[in-house]
Amino acid sequence: MPFDFHSRAIKAAALIGSGLAQFARARRSSETTILSFHGLSENVGDSAVLDWTLHLPVEVFRNICSMLAKDYRVISMAELIEARSRGAHLPDNSVIITFDDGYASNYELAYPILREFDLHATVFVTTGFLDGEDMLWFQRVDLALGRTRKELLDWKINGKKLRLYLGTRELRQQSLVRLIPELKELPDTDLLGEVDRFERALEVNTPCIEDLPKSMRPMTWEMARVMSLSGYVDIGGHTHTHPILARCDSLAARAEISTCRDRIRAEIGDLPVAFCYPNGGSDDYTRETMLRVREAGFKAACTAISGRVTADVSMFELPRYGSPESVWEAEATVSGAFETLKDWRRSCLKAMSMI
Ligand SMILES: [Zn+2]
Repeated sequence: MPFDFHSRAIKAAALIGSGLAQFARARRSSETTILSFHGLSENVGDSAVLDWTLHLPVEVFRNICSMLAKDYRVISMAELIEARSRGAHLPDNSVIITFDDGYASNYELAYPILREFDLHATVFVTTGFLDGEDMLWFQRVDLALGRTRKELLDWKINGKKLRLYLGTRELRQQSLVRLIPELKELPDTDLLGEVDRFERALEVNTPCIEDLPKSMRPMTWEMARVMSLSGYVDIGGHTHTHPILARCDSLAARAEISTCRDRIRAEIGDLPVAFCYPNGGSDDYTRETMLRVREAGFKAACTAISGRVTADVSMFELPRYGSPESVWEAEATVSGAFETLKDWRRSCLKAMSMI
């Protein structure tokens, strides 16, 4: 898989053991941290899914919430928006919890934990996924590679020839890691057709909701309503079909954003205030995307670019950290220890270059 879990966890544990997390937490208390999660799973690694890193074990999430409830102040996106509009200060060491896509496990596994620790979260939903009409394209690719009986596939994409080995689960995971970035490069008009062709080449059917493994299933609108009414969860927008907005033409991008807003308003009753760009990297949205999101009535939008929310950050380009894999990593992230270490490294390198 594309990450090294053990080295990340060990590095984070060392930062906490050394006292750097405590030091950073005091020094950087005015900064807000936004954490992102996707789904949760009951076990480590769902064997039915190749990329199980999107579905954090529920016990890890529970430990993270316990740590946040003890030492941090979890606030909502609405509180951030409100404070910004009034020029007011947020509480020290504030953290925002977010979930992307709209998985049923947000309701089944995360929501009881949020209630238990009295914490708020924002769930950014892909509305076509909740409607049951549009399967997430990256889930289709994951399932096609996981379910095919083929052991090898030669695939041409973006002018490249990929030889995808499929003989073992590990090889299928490696093939997924090679293929997904190529698919993300395609213009939006070509993406779903490419995924259709890929499923046909691997001789698997396009899945419907009933075919999805448990961890991949979307929440129902009823689940979203229950969470929203409880006051513990806000429902935010994440487009209607999860395209990368920078690969869409103007009309399609505008429709993705407004359909998403309208479906949320129809099902939840309120206009959503926060948005989250699919994929969220710096090449995945444009200035025009930001303008369209603002025009649609959203008051803030999150990226997937790591960083801390300071007073000079744009509300339509909010930095956000990817899902921590352990409670140590979560603490090293929210305290600012990782960023402090990065700053020290940068100033050391600068000092050395001046010698
Ligand atoms: Zn997403």
